[in-house]
Amino acid sequence: MTSGAKRGERGLRPAHRVRAARLRRLQAILTQPLVIVEQPHLFWLCGFSGTSGAACVTQSGAWFVTDPRYEEQARDEVAPEFRLLCRMDRPERIVAGEKIFAGCPQIAMEEETTCIATLKAWGAALSPATVTPLPSPLMPLRRIKEREEIAAVRRALALTEEAMAWIAPAVRPGVTERELAARLEFYCRMKGASGPSFDLIVASGPNSARPHGVAGPRKVAVNEPVLFDIGFFVDGYASDFTRVVFCGTKPPAALLSMHARVLEAQERGKAAIRAGIPAAGPDEVVRAWFKEERVLGLYGHSLGHGVGLEIHEAPRLSWKSEEMLEAGMLVTVEPGLYRAGRYGIRLEDMVLVTVQGCEVLTDFPHDLARIPPV
Ligand code: ZN
Ligand code: ZN
Repeated sequence: MTSGAKRGERGLRPAHRVRAARLRRLQAILTQPLVIVEQPHLFWLCGFSGTSGAACVTQSGAWFVTDPRYEEQARDEVAPEFRLLCRMDRPERIVAGEKIFAGCPQIAMEEETTCIATLKAWGAALSPATVTPLPSPLMPLRRIKEREEIAAVRRALALTEEAMAWIAPAVRPGVTERELAARLEFYCRMKGASGPSFDLIVASGPNSARPHGVAGPRKVAVNEPVLFDIGFFVDGYASDFTRVVFCGTKPPAALLSMHARVLEAQERGKAAIRAGIPAAGPDEVVRAWFKEERVLGLYGHSLGHGVGLEIHEAPRLSWKSEEMLEAGMLVTVEPGLYRAGRYGIRLEDMVLVTVQGCEVLTDFPHDLARIPPV
């Protein structure tokens, strides 16, 4: 929410103080001037939530460039450490005209997010300087979440859990997956979410065996599971949450034992998490357990991923990951087992990596909720 503070009232807004500190941390590690053109980095660094703008950062200066469509928004949102340049022109031409990078032979753009056409346009405008795509120095900074970011994720997750508790009784024979998803989205938007953090997954019966199925026209039938993998953006930050509801009172023994194995896997995965270990470790622990149980072939993905301004960010909790876990990382722990054509179970919690282990942020019962069909 905007507070009505004017630009230049330095330090008045907590969000601006956070941005000033981030800018200082970035400038301390910059080896050459940097241009940022993509969300969510513009939001993380400057506070700008619009879609068109550019941030230019050198070791001693910072500018935010946009056009008149976003001028008011930029004046309101962008931290006062950034000099605002607003003109009816392309950002690279505004920057070239202002000679921001005068005397700099090399300028970097973020290779992960900058498209080739944008890179070429900046290169042409800033010539004879060369504009080079380089690994973004913001990425390592964003991996470790600050207090304000963790608080925002907690708010997003609390709303998601509230919505899950609210929607569960609506799981009845005849209701479509799409209707359940639409109701969830309406509920969360009415309660302050800006939108879902991905295409909500409401997967009933055999659809629950598809890890990335979406909510479709299928109607829920009696005596089948419905998998909800849902998340919402609150204050810019995403939640990610999965539970399974059974439409009926007597789940088959095979489904219950699959659920028990996934829950045990999740516990083992969480117990394996702590700062200072390879991010591949917890997934390897879960794989070993599934192998022991002779169900490894039903586990078709990895254990989890970082969440923040984006639904999928670093680190990956995957056996393929080469990163290390650090205190302050926010990750999901979401093992799943899937029997194609029949059903699947996935349970997903969010945890904060700590020095000793992890703090589980999700506070929702894991059991297979049984809804008497009426
Ligand atoms: Zn999820
Ligand atoms: Zn996830």
